Amino acid sequence: MITVTSIKELKEVVNKVRKNSTVGLVPTMGFLHEGHMSLVKQAKETVDFVVMSIFVNPTQFGPGEDFEKYPRDLARDEQLAREGGVDLLFTPTVEEMYPKPGRTTVHVSGITEKLCGASRPGHFDGVSLVVSKLFHLVQPDYAFFGLKDAQQVAVIEQMVQDLNFPVTIVPCEIVREADGLALSSRNVYLSPEQRKEALILSQSLKHVKERFLNGERNAEVLRQEAITLIEESPLAQIDYVSLLSYPELETVSYIDSPAIIALAVRFGNTRLIDNALLKN
Ligand code: AMP
Repeated sequence: MITVTSIKELKEVVNKVRKNSTVGLVPTMGFLHEGHMSLVKQAKETVDFVVMSIFVNPTQFGPGEDFEKYPRDLARDEQLAREGGVDLLFTPTVEEMYPKPGRTTVHVSGITEKLCGASRPGHFDGVSLVVSKLFHLVQPDYAFFGLKDAQQVAVIEQMVQDLNFPVTIVPCEIVREADGLALSSRNVYLSPEQRKEALILSQSLKHVKERFLNGERNAEVLRQEAITLIEESPLAQIDYVSLLSYPELETVSYIDSPAIIALAVRFGNTRLIDNALLKN
């Protein structure tokens, strides 16, 4: 595995490789876990050469969010990336990615105003900006994103379509702990008590999915059942529990096309997200 920190080195390597290999990109913010590595696995099955980026992107964090204290461990990440079969690891500094204050916004409208976009204003502008930059730098044939961040997948797909990025987006399934908790770099913030109670998230989604598969199609009924379950945990503070069409993220009352139940819940200062797609 080659590790580079500069854009110049990154381009030198990928420009050479691209002549006779397909290139895949796995963008991450590091503190790698099995969720990230599942994207690498999928990438290795799809392309000849896998590029992973590790960059905690300041433009997607709002004021008062956890940019400074976001977990970081580059040495460990490098080892995991190498073991996972990443070919090229790009770990730029903030100055390398944003050498001067930028003046360009990449804004996907509509779908970014729902769910996490409503709770984290500007978040998806930061995501679209950094992903655009990475797509221009790496020019991957395929890019791999986890459905853990299903809204992010919808936003990136829309951006790729609107701006004709020559890349195919590959959405990858959510990886969970054995007990159901969706893997997340932020799980390390949870106290043992919070970790135990956080199980209610995947359990409530599982409940809704089962009810849907058994024929319940009333979105508000399903949403309320999820809320009732989550409210049983005294430590859980709901940010949102929403049931919308997917990927359009429009309000639905009767579910007759693909939909998503998505939630964001705080345990202390830690905000966790999870979701389940509802389709026949
Ligand atoms: P992050 O480092 O949290 O920005 O995540 C980088 C990529 O890994 C994103 O595409 C995420 O959706 C994906 N990812 C994070 N956690 C999981 C998970 N538990 N299962 C699948 N993909 C994940």
